Amino acid sequence: MAAGTRKFKTEVQHLLDLMIHSLYSNKDIFLRELIANAADAIDKARFISLTDKSVADDWAIRLTVDKDKKFIRVSDNGIGMTEGEVIDNIGTIAKSGTRAFIEALEQKQKSAADLPELIGQFGVGFYSSFMVAEKVEILTKKAGSVENAVRWVSDGKADYTVTAAEKAEQGTEVTVFLKDDAKIYLENWKLGDIVRKYSDFIEYPITLPYEKVEKGEGKDAKETKTIELRTLNSQKAIWLKKTAEISAEEHESFFAHLSHGGGKPAKTIQLAAEGASEFKALIYIPETAPFNMFMPDFQKKGLQLYVRRVFITDECKELVPDYLRFLKGVVDSSDLPLNVSREILQDNARIHQMRQTITRKVLSELKQLQEKEPEKYAKFFTEFGKILKEGVHMDYENKEKLKALLRYETMNSEAGKLVGLQEYVDAMPPAQQDIYYITGESRRALENSAALEIFRSQNFDVLFMTDPIDEWIMPSMGQFAKKHFKSATTGDIKLDAAGRKTGEELIAQAAEAHKSLLETLQKELEANIKEVRFTNRLTDSACCLIGDENAMSAHMERIFKAMKQDVPVSKRILELNPQHSLIAGMQRMFDADPANPELGKYAHLLYDQALLTEGSPIPDPLTFAKNVAALMAKAVE
Ligand code: ADP
Repeated sequence: MAAGTRKFKTEVQHLLDLMIHSLYSNKDIFLRELIANAADAIDKARFISLTDKSVADDWAIRLTVDKDKKFIRVSDNGIGMTEGEVIDNIGTIAKSGTRAFIEALEQKQKSAADLPELIGQFGVGFYSSFMVAEKVEILTKKAGSVENAVRWVSDGKADYTVTAAEKAEQGTEVTVFLKDDAKIYLENWKLGDIVRKYSDFIEYPITLPYEKVEKGEGKDAKETKTIELRTLNSQKAIWLKKTAEISAEEHESFFAHLSHGGGKPAKTIQLAAEGASEFKALIYIPETAPFNMFMPDFQKKGLQLYVRRVFITDECKELVPDYLRFLKGVVDSSDLPLNVSREILQDNARIHQMRQTITRKVLSELKQLQEKEPEKYAKFFTEFGKILKEGVHMDYENKEKLKALLRYETMNSEAGKLVGLQEYVDAMPPAQQDIYYITGESRRALENSAALEIFRSQNFDVLFMTDPIDEWIMPSMGQFAKKHFKSATTGDIKLDAAGRKTGEELIAQAAEAHKSLLETLQKELEANIKEVRFTNRLTDSACCLIGDENAMSAHMERIFKAMKQDVPVSKRILELNPQHSLIAGMQRMFDADPANPELGKYAHLLYDQALLTEGSPIPDPLTFAKNVAALMAKAVE
């Protein structure tokens, strides 16, 4: 056989050189790569064994360490390689991932600072063992072949040797002689950690011998050492099982594993996608929201991405839209390459396809939950509704589906009970044409709003929007069930024809009767408001403040101010209730003496009152208090 020393191809040499001098901190991945290769080799052998019974079938990946010789060995009883295959596969760069890596390096002009980053992104298969190795030896025997076994040895510098060797069992042994600074890989606990992190769900047992020291009975008893072979991985890729085969306990314990112990799943979603992108997914909607849901670190980790049972990352933001970031689970692709890079993930048609499929499925499951288990859905929405709402603004494609999932408290619903938009629309009286909403800090603040009086009198319900995000997504809401969304505190309210007529007449009459009074009040409040006018909006209160149809709402202004942001000053309209006794009283004062200074005080009191009832601060509390006190004193007299 053509035994002897051979030179690596230049590009391999280049790559190896990078590995040897790599500063990449996560060197653990070399073991992930070797185990993945071993599992692939067993997959292939198992496939052959289905027809050829002479091939072994007690599949296992064995790890061994030798502390004296300072090596770690990964052995499999998989397909193995012939001499030709060793030369072809190891020592050339065939696979696309590694090619892409090399190309990325060349493009980046391989500045030293970029290297660690790049290695982490690509994972470069077998070659990554040279991050920790002084020397690597491969001993391999091809399954079912009469050829000799082959030994491949290299220090990763310029060349490698291939010689004939003896090996009884089929499969491959990769022995990594560790550098001095990589001795940690001789420790069982370290290997256990790595396997559980990256290879826990590999189908085949990954074993490691543990030494057990036992003391016999009695004084002079000797210690006996036994070797116990432990399986490090759980092997249970429950997402690959059929739905009916997974018990509730299994779901619970897997969910606990994913969420690091937090709570239970409220809903389980299983998905097997075929076609453009083949993958399986097992996704959970948690029962309760984690405390850190709105902290930036929460957004980093999402669904776990696996490729054929090998853990790739839990930081693939592209897998689900941001507004579903509360989901926990696993997505296992059968057609992504194992060494898929972060750049590839970001801009990959398959990932995009997966995201669409997952999003569609989750939204349809939520819809079902809403229809079939409304109580459970209500609980879900209380926990995660705030996040889900972001989707209305962010995900144009699924906007309609998302709107149908939204819920709000309303003026007519009891406190704490949320009403869906469809439910709201279904309950609208025939005269009501639009969907009305009002925004504010809390239900209590909103309930007291004078602007709601007309809605009460007409029996129109009003959605209470108390999340800051509600106001933010409003511009994206448009319509629901062909009804427009209208703020209860801006613009006009469409009443039925009869109501509109009497309302309009009343306003016109009042405007005529109190023309000069209105002018005086308006002059007095010029600096603060745009206009004083009569309205049919009020039934009990004397006045309220109304925004322009397109202006920022008072609630939004308060949010911006709280964030110390500049707020464009938008003057609002002070609306008066023509039927309130205060108007008639003021008119009498005006008729007696149009220059009565009390009228000016009243104007400001009206304005301050309107501010207070909607929950806004008043500009000059001291003057307000003085005026009220003066009025009270007069009344007491
Ligand atoms: P990748 O596994 O991503 O293809 P590697 O550089 O890790 O890249 O391996 C190159 C090739 O060497 C593999 O595709 C496979 O054909 C072969 N190989 C590596 N490890 C083993 C093994 N344990 N058993 C059989 N073949 C292997």
